Amino acid sequence: MKRKKKKLKKVKLICFIIIFCLALLCSIKYISKKNNKNIEIANTEIEEEVKFEEEKIEETSKLEEKLKTGKYLKQDGLPVLMYHFFYDKTKGETAKDGNYIEISSFEEQIKYLAENDFYFPTWQEVEDYIDEKTELPEKSVVITVDDGDPSFFELAVPIIQKYNVQATSFLVVYWYGNRAENKEKNVSYQSHSYDMHKGGANGKGVMLSWDNNKIKEDLELSSKVLGGANIFCYPFGHYNENCFKVLKETGYKLAFTVEAGRVTKKANKYKLPRVRISGNTSINSFIKKVE
Ligand SMILES: [Zn+2]
Repeated sequence: MKRKKKKLKKVKLICFIIIFCLALLCSIKYISKKNNKNIEIANTEIEEEVKFEEEKIEETSKLEEKLKTGKYLKQDGLPVLMYHFFYDKTKGETAKDGNYIEISSFEEQIKYLAENDFYFPTWQEVEDYIDEKTELPEKSVVITVDDGDPSFFELAVPIIQKYNVQATSFLVVYWYGNRAENKEKNVSYQSHSYDMHKGGANGKGVMLSWDNNKIKEDLELSSKVLGGANIFCYPFGHYNENCFKVLKETGYKLAFTVEAGRVTKKANKYKLPRVRISGNTSINSFIKKVE
């Protein structure tokens, strides 16, 4: 009887040891699996962070690199060039008015900017410059082209890409919004309204006579179609104090008129002037306008 009891005790002990060892093995496996997973998550997080930092560095270094020279944009400010339409005389095309630029003249101008190492700030950098959060390099310029006319895409965009400069197309979205889908290299798509490029009361654009809800709807729609556009250009250059308010409320950061001048620090961000380039602007007068 005593021997049987002893044997049973022994079996129980062996069973206990086996179960204990199994449990220990399982828990070690589980912990190491969990650790591996944690390590994997941590690794991807680090990788993503590094990637983000690299992108940030790449984005800022261009401007920082330029500013290292200590040569900043002069007090008279940043020239934001204004273009409209283009034509090609070798194809027998002619200028309909002063807003038409012969494409070889345009190429001469863009070549000048590229060869003289002009800097093309992003819209964020322009805003920061106005807010006095950053300086801009000595030779800085912005190219804007109003409306989104086919002649811009067919004639001017290939030149913009050839010389690797940056330009903004202010699209009348109702007319030419689908152009933005092509996502042309070196081109930023911003708003020239969805459908406010038409006459309203008193010979002014409709933006001055529509009620604010209608204006807001138009602004929001153009921004949405263009994938978050937040820079505006007044149709016909017409604006009033109310436009500033509605633009601000709909999230637009900057708005351009057709008034002549350079963008300076502390400028009214909803009443920014530009430098008009017309068909008869010679290369010498172009150089004076950008230098
Ligand atoms: Zn226009």
